Amino acid sequence: MKKILVIFTVLLSLVSSAQPVSLSKNIRKTMDRIDTNTIRSHIAYLADDKLKGRLPGTEGYQMAVDYVVDQYKKIGLAPGGDNGSYLQNLVIRRSVLVNSSASAILTDFSGNADTLEFLKHFIPIPHPIKTGTGAAGQLAFAGYGIEIPGGYSDYKNIDANGKILIIVSGAPDRMHSTLTAHFSNLGNKINTAYKKGAIGVILINLNPRPGANNSPTIQTNVAMNPEKTEAYGRGFTGNLAVAVNSNRAMLSRFFLQSRKKVETVLTDIKQGIPSSFELSLRLSVFYETKHTDFASQNVVALIPGADKTLKNEYVVHSAHLDHVGIGRVVNGDSIYNGAHDNASGVASLLEIARIYKNSGAKPKRSILIVMVTGEEMGLIGSSYFAANPTVPKGAIVANVNTDMPTVIAPLLSIVPLGAEHSTIMKHVQFAAIQLGLEVEKDPEPTENRFVRSDQYSFVMNGIPALHIKYGTKTNVPGFDLVAFVKQWRAKYYHQSADGMDGIFDFAAAKVYVQLNFLVSYSIAQTTERPSWNKDDLFGK
Ligand SMILES: [Zn+2]
Repeated sequence: MKKILVIFTVLLSLVSSAQPVSLSKNIRKTMDRIDTNTIRSHIAYLADDKLKGRLPGTEGYQMAVDYVVDQYKKIGLAPGGDNGSYLQNLVIRRSVLVNSSASAILTDFSGNADTLEFLKHFIPIPHPIKTGTGAAGQLAFAGYGIEIPGGYSDYKNIDANGKILIIVSGAPDRMHSTLTAHFSNLGNKINTAYKKGAIGVILINLNPRPGANNSPTIQTNVAMNPEKTEAYGRGFTGNLAVAVNSNRAMLSRFFLQSRKKVETVLTDIKQGIPSSFELSLRLSVFYETKHTDFASQNVVALIPGADKTLKNEYVVHSAHLDHVGIGRVVNGDSIYNGAHDNASGVASLLEIARIYKNSGAKPKRSILIVMVTGEEMGLIGSSYFAANPTVPKGAIVANVNTDMPTVIAPLLSIVPLGAEHSTIMKHVQFAAIQLGLEVEKDPEPTENRFVRSDQYSFVMNGIPALHIKYGTKTNVPGFDLVAFVKQWRAKYYHQSADGMDGIFDFAAAKVYVQLNFLVSYSIAQTTERPSWNKDDLFGK
């Protein structure tokens, strides 16, 4: 009986996973007809000097918004934004610390009070909601400030309620690199502290970069709802009363009256031994923040699904429309055009939409094409969209993000960032087979690329996500694609050199369009909704 059951189960799983999505003649024809000149012309417009680097809040960004809306209309896409428009309106808030207002007093158990020095001892993180904010409470050392469901937790031995937590940068060794990046992400640590009842955090960067000067501008960015009641981003969004950066020397000072040694404790947590404890010290902090607000937009189009049930679910294609604007002059050029980053991604999404529209593909699930603002400001446009989508939140089944595909050489193999965490991998494999592409493992796992672009905003909201990067395969003997991309990055990435006169392989850009189309189409056609792999920590 058992044997029969096993065989039956195997058969069932074969049936459920072996139903490749069929592609009509029209779809194949339309995929073939994608015009590399059109891809080039999208990039050329968006990367033109007159758009001045597409910085949110500038005329250049609005020109990019207008271009996308115009293209959506030309392709014949339905609006997917607010109130029947193509736009999702949001507010971007720049928060700047009023340096002169920053004050902090450290008091020990016998009541001796020390005034701490701004910059030398502490640097408050601007509060994105309140102009004046303060907190006073007992300190507790909370290690990395990480709590992994069913695993390592810095919160085992302390009661964080009402306390200000001292948290060091990083994560324990021996964690999968993507998870390390996820759990050591600042916003994640702050949110965990908030959920544990803390009123503030002191963040100790164990590997600080040099370069603080005497009167620095301490600045952060968030996206907000138009009513300005909630902030969204991957950093401090204002849930705690205070958040403060500090340093290794202060960590030693905090430990002084405890019986613990900094070195021992840091070694222990690195090895995965939680070592949190409460200190007999109190800290009171106060500071002011100046806010500057401006309007910005995500630009959203809809391809309605055809299945009467599945059409109420959505596959989201995303690409950031913004770039960094005008900056340091290099070789007489101060405009950071962002041709690859991410005009090429926006062009890619426009052509994916065109395949859906022109082929009459009629996907079962609906498709959203979302160009987001503020990626370069800290993934804030996508943070806002993922938390407040223009469709019911639970109805988004997957995100396929496109950020700087780096189309500078023939595309022969791919690295599907994030796919190994969910059933999206099946759809990637289907798409790769159709195009004769090889699927590779991430060659640079320590770069933490999965958490570094807009797909991470969707992951933070529980949505399985994907971001396809280039693999290492090349058809030129002796050619080192990885080294080539590395050199390219050094010269072009976030440089004014990233313009139309850079290196492009538009045939590869076309393959990239086909690939991402096939992934979302496969997801849209498959009744089984994408899910995180069993026990995957992103799904918890
Ligand atoms: Zn980018």
